[in-house]
Amino acid sequence: MSALAPGSTVGILGGGQLGRMLAVAAAQLGFDVAIYTDEEDSPASRVSARTIVGAYDDAAKLADFARGVEVVTTEFENVPAATAEALIAAGATVRPDPRVLAVAQDRFEEKSFFAANGIATPPFAKVDSQADLDAAIAKIGARAILKTRRLGYDGRGQIRINTAANAEGAHAKLGAPGILEGFCAFEREVSIIAARAVGGDIAFFDLNENEHSGGILSRTTLPSKAPAAVTETAQAAARKVLQAFDYVGVLTIEFFVMPDGGIIANEMAPRVHNSGHWTIEGALTSQFEQHIRCIAGWPLGLTTRIADIEMINLIGDDANDWAKYAAEPGAHLHLYGKREARPGRKMGHVTRLIR
Ligand code: AMP
Repeated sequence: MSALAPGSTVGILGGGQLGRMLAVAAAQLGFDVAIYTDEEDSPASRVSARTIVGAYDDAAKLADFARGVEVVTTEFENVPAATAEALIAAGATVRPDPRVLAVAQDRFEEKSFFAANGIATPPFAKVDSQADLDAAIAKIGARAILKTRRLGYDGRGQIRINTAANAEGAHAKLGAPGILEGFCAFEREVSIIAARAVGGDIAFFDLNENEHSGGILSRTTLPSKAPAAVTETAQAAARKVLQAFDYVGVLTIEFFVMPDGGIIANEMAPRVHNSGHWTIEGALTSQFEQHIRCIAGWPLGLTTRIADIEMINLIGDDANDWAKYAAEPGAHLHLYGKREARPGRKMGHVTRLIR
């Protein structure tokens, strides 16, 4: 596929806020956007030219979607493998290559992939039974976190284990195939957002420093206080992942920075990421435009950061304070148009450029 001409249609699987911000960026470059989602009235569909609402295993609707778009991308990593296969069977170009989804959506596969590529991870072990859990604790130690292998996000599907006694019954409580990870007493959390174009060019945004609350990202600041060597190691890790999958698009990897300055990969997201929302106002090209450029076969945009940054997430009822942020000079308020503010739900964010 040569470079996609303006006026072409970009397809996005998923209708959440990442899809919404991707759609806005695509529209700015002159593309039409079609959304495929299983949700009526989704945040992304309300800013897009077209939406097909269907189940992710509805092969007929997926084929219909594939026929109407020039390229398909994904805004969430839990896209079932069968969905991507159905799209490819219908003739769609899917970017990035869905092989990366199979790795990113299973924490055990993901950590095994990191380890096989020389990217440091916490100690980890597969847990399919209480006996596995007991054996994993004997190996890794009780200071650990039991996580579901699949479908966990924002700290969901996780059980903190501190003592062996705590581990009793924990596998049954998790209720799904799991992975035990050694607890990392990190100094800070950072993420790297990288992009790879069709021809293989790679660009990085500056390293994000992230604070979580209850497992959910609450605040991102730049520049990170991590030493410069951390950025180099994070970029080298991202480069390996990009090249391993002949990746096209934006990719994010989250790391723990340890007191000795070493970094440990926590997880990767084969997509744009919450910790990169600041790039809309704070970089010469946003992560959303960068992703659209990549999947459209366009050249990469410049990633230069233009100010120091604070981005805060508006979670649940935080979004009720929209008028306060709207009145704050220089604060960039983003609201995702979600109808209901459930606790823990990402409703919007605010970016402040500090000069
Ligand atoms: P996750 O959903 O795996 O990204 O986990 C959400 C958050 O929980 C992370 O951003 C960390 O703050 C914390 N966390 C997850 N895994 C570990 C770990 N192995 N050691 C220490 N903290 C962790």
